[in-house]
Amino acid sequence: MSHIASLDADPDRSAAAGAESDGVARSLFALNLNPADPRRGWRGWLREVGASLDRVLFVQGCQICGGHVDDDPRAAPWCLDCRAELIESVPHCCLRCGQAVGPFASATLKQGCARCRGRSLGFEGVVALGPYQGPIRALCLHLKRASGAWLGAWLMDLTIESRFERLRSLELKTDPDGRPPLVTSIPLHWRRRWARGYNQADDLAARLAQRLDLPWRRVLRRIRPTPKLAGRSPTERLDLMRRAFQVISSRRSCLERRDILLVDDVLTTGATTGAAARVLKRAGAARVFVVVIARTEPNR
Ligand SMILES: [Zn+2]
Ligand SMILES: [Zn+2]
Repeated sequence: MSHIASLDADPDRSAAAGAESDGVARSLFALNLNPADPRRGWRGWLREVGASLDRVLFVQGCQICGGHVDDDPRAAPWCLDCRAELIESVPHCCLRCGQAVGPFASATLKQGCARCRGRSLGFEGVVALGPYQGPIRALCLHLKRASGAWLGAWLMDLTIESRFERLRSLELKTDPDGRPPLVTSIPLHWRRRWARGYNQADDLAARLAQRLDLPWRRVLRRIRPTPKLAGRSPTERLDLMRRAFQVISSRRSCLERRDILLVDDVLTTGATTGAAARVLKRAGAARVFVVVIARTEPNR
C-alpha cells in the first residue's frame, strides 16, 4: 500500500521522482501535463486529431471572451486572461463538500465546513475546478451537448493542473492486492444518454484516468432517471435517489477495498453523487472522492 506522497505537477521532476517509488505512486509520477506529449499512444493521437479538427471547424477565438487565442489548433480554447479567471474563481472551498467557504475558514479542516460537518455525504471529499457560475457554468452547459464534447478534455486538464495539490492531498492508496485507485463516472439513464448522444461524465473520467495514469471503468448503472431535486428537502432528495444506481454485477470485483475517483461534470445538491458513492461503498469500495468541473453554491 503506498501513498501518493510525491505526486508532482512538473512532468520532468515527476519522472525523476518516479524512479524511486513504487506501486500507484510510480504510475502517477508519469502524470503528463503536456497536451502534445507523444506518449499517449494511437488512441491519444486519434483523440488529439479529433480535438484539433473540432477546433479548426467549430472554434473561433476564446470560448469565453471571443478574444484572440493562439492559432495552433492544440492551443487551449480560451485566452490566457480567461484561463486565469477560470483557475482563480474559487480560492477557498470545503475539502469535504466542495462548497465555497470564507477566506478565513481553515482550508484543511477534513471534518468539513459549517454546512456539511456531521452530515453524511456518502463521499469523503470533493475536487472541483470552481463554482457553477460565470464562464465555468457556460462551459459546462456547452459540454452537455455532443457538439461541446471536445471541451471535456480541456476542462479536465485545467482542473487537474489547477487543483493538483488538492488531488495529491487525497493520498490515494493502492488496495491490499496492489491495485491502483479506480476512476469511474456517474452514469446517465439510458434514455437521456440516447437523447444526448454521449455522457460527458464518461469523457471527463477517461481524461482524468489518462492524465493520472489510473484505470477507468464504468461500474455503475442508472436504473431510474433522475427526478428534479431542486427545491426538495435533503430527506426527500435522499429518498428519491435511493435505488437510482446499481453496480454492474460483472464489475463488482473491481471495487472491493479500492479507493475510487467518481467523476461528473457538475455537483449540485450532492444527493445524486452521494447515492452513487453509497452504492460503490456497499459494493466494497474503500473511499470515494468526487472530481467535478463545477460545484453549485448553496440554495441553487
Ligand atoms: Zn478570453
Ligand atoms: Zn463542507
